[in-house]
Amino acid sequence: MADMKVYFDHNATTPLHPEVKKEMIAAMEMFGNPSSMHAYGREARANVEASRRKVAEFIGAHDEEIIFVGSGSEANNTVLSLFVCATNQCVGGCGMRSTIITTRIEHPCVLETAECLAHRGAHVKYLDVDRYGKIDLDQLQGMLGDDVGLVSVMMANNEIGTLQDIEAITKMVHASGAYMHTDAVQAVGKVPVDVRRLGVDFLTISGHKIYGPKGVGALFVKKGVSYCPLIRGGHQERGRRAGTENTLGILGLGRAVEMRALEMTEEHNRMVQLKTALKEGIEARIDDISINGHPTDSLAGTLNVSFEGVEGEAVLLYLDLEGIAVSTGSACASGSLDPSHVLLATGVDAERAHGSIRFSMGRESTMQEVDYLLDVLPGTINKIRNMSTAYIKGGVHAASR
Ligand SMILES: *Cc1c(COP(=O)(O)O)cnc(C)c1O
Repeated sequence: MADMKVYFDHNATTPLHPEVKKEMIAAMEMFGNPSSMHAYGREARANVEASRRKVAEFIGAHDEEIIFVGSGSEANNTVLSLFVCATNQCVGGCGMRSTIITTRIEHPCVLETAECLAHRGAHVKYLDVDRYGKIDLDQLQGMLGDDVGLVSVMMANNEIGTLQDIEAITKMVHASGAYMHTDAVQAVGKVPVDVRRLGVDFLTISGHKIYGPKGVGALFVKKGVSYCPLIRGGHQERGRRAGTENTLGILGLGRAVEMRALEMTEEHNRMVQLKTALKEGIEARIDDISINGHPTDSLAGTLNVSFEGVEGEAVLLYLDLEGIAVSTGSACASGSLDPSHVLLATGVDAERAHGSIRFSMGRESTMQEVDYLLDVLPGTINKIRNMSTAYIKGGVHAASR
């Protein structure tokens, strides 16, 4: 069995969809610059615009509302940076609406940008979350005012999967006169995302989280919202993002969203079954665990579990030896021993946060893989607990039971 390979880390990144790979390989010879007027350029331009149409259609936007960027991180950096009043192009209006509201559970590319902007004249306020990772609309209402330029709340959390009610949040935000951004990197392609229904002004997409290539993303900017590029120096993307287009990446992203449109509904139902089996299997086989994230308003393929008395890193490495890939906290936080800021924000203590594992399944995940994980995991947790002096069950050290 140990030769079975199980990839349960789809929230960190996903493999290329076979259709995306096929189309990218077929287009590998396409090298024209979309800005060139000759046949090479026109071919590349046609492909970029076809992808723009696919991305726009997938989220209910107009073509000209889609800006291709280099990553989800770049899109998030761009939006937040619009609201710092270093220039008179500041979208918030200089000196007026210089407050940004975000949450304590955003991806680091939002949180670190917000921190940086706080040193450059912006005021940043952070929304708390409850034990399930949901923000409190009353707290948001209390923070909104005519000093607030932007509210940025992620649609689905990458670590615990919790979904926020972006439609309701946007209504409140707009009533106060502020703009609304959502980092939808983990939501797009997993749950229905329609920018008109949500009402948002800005929305972030990343290619490699939806079986597309790495190093490409898309930013939705609602028509009429004034905008100022983060990367300057060219007329590409209607002057909104300079730099010669990543033509192959953009082509792959377009094909990826096309495949999401075909597959996501059926896949969702399968993910619900896999997650239920995994969750119930862990609960039945392993003592002293707790499930993190919202019980219902959550991504179907994401399960975050705290195992008392273990280090998440040890679990990850032991599972890796068995061919199973999972993650602790978020991929971006690994390498450091800081407990996950998301779990801490939900009230999980540092010790329990350290013993947390994220299982994130995706389109090629199977029930056989869940069964294999459930075969391996109890022994792995037991082994680590028996080595640990910290884990004492019911006052008796696990090793001496
Ligand atoms: C992965 C991720 C990002 C960053 O996207 P990149 O394309 O890797 O820069 C942003 N937000 C969330 C929620 C993510 O999961």
